[in-house]
Amino acid sequence: MKVVLASRNKNKIKEIKDIYRAVTGKELDILSLDDIGYEGEIEENGSSFEENSRIKATVPALLGYIGLADDSGLMVNALGGAPGIYSARYSGEDANYERNNDKLLAELDGIEDRSAKFVCVFCVAGPDGKVLTVRGECHGTIAKERKGSGGFGYDPLFICEDLGKSFGELSSEEKNKISHRAVALDKLIPQLSEFLSSYN
Ligand code: IMP
Repeated sequence: MKVVLASRNKNKIKEIKDIYRAVTGKELDILSLDDIGYEGEIEENGSSFEENSRIKATVPALLGYIGLADDSGLMVNALGGAPGIYSARYSGEDANYERNNDKLLAELDGIEDRSAKFVCVFCVAGPDGKVLTVRGECHGTIAKERKGSGGFGYDPLFICEDLGKSFGELSSEEKNKISHRAVALDKLIPQLSEFLSSYN
């Protein structure tokens, strides 16, 4: 049975396929929403990463595929977990990475507790209603100014606890070993392999 990632992001598909191959030694054929001709917009109106990833994974599942989806974001303790599921649109209607980072710095101005974590949740949903969810986290702190020019989103402001460097200062290979997405994928892949075998 075909696996469909509920995303149009080809980089995400490649990352999942690469890690799946490295962990299992097997190839995973993943299609995107474009590949199956799905043109609708999916409304992510859940109240947690788990709910949103499940909403997305259910779309291909209802069309008879095995649906796969992820939802991720940054949670800052002093801000009660914000921006959280609103990470992409933190600075409002015209949100972009620069404005989101500016808003985060402004919100944390003068605040001593700068602890934060990146969260990534993957969900797999079968056409029979079976669901699997895994969560990966990466802990760190929010810097007082941007550091490094790599990555995307909040990467220049997120100082990873394990390496003492911002995600923006890491190469993509370094980031992909320790990121919230890598932690979630490490958990997902063996379970996904088992999940898929129940449909063959
Ligand atoms: P998505 O669910 O993967 O689309 O991520 C939602 C938002 O969370 C992104 O637009 C970014 O603002 C933020 N985000 C998620 N993962 C990362 C990351 O690895 N680095 C920086 N920002 C991230």
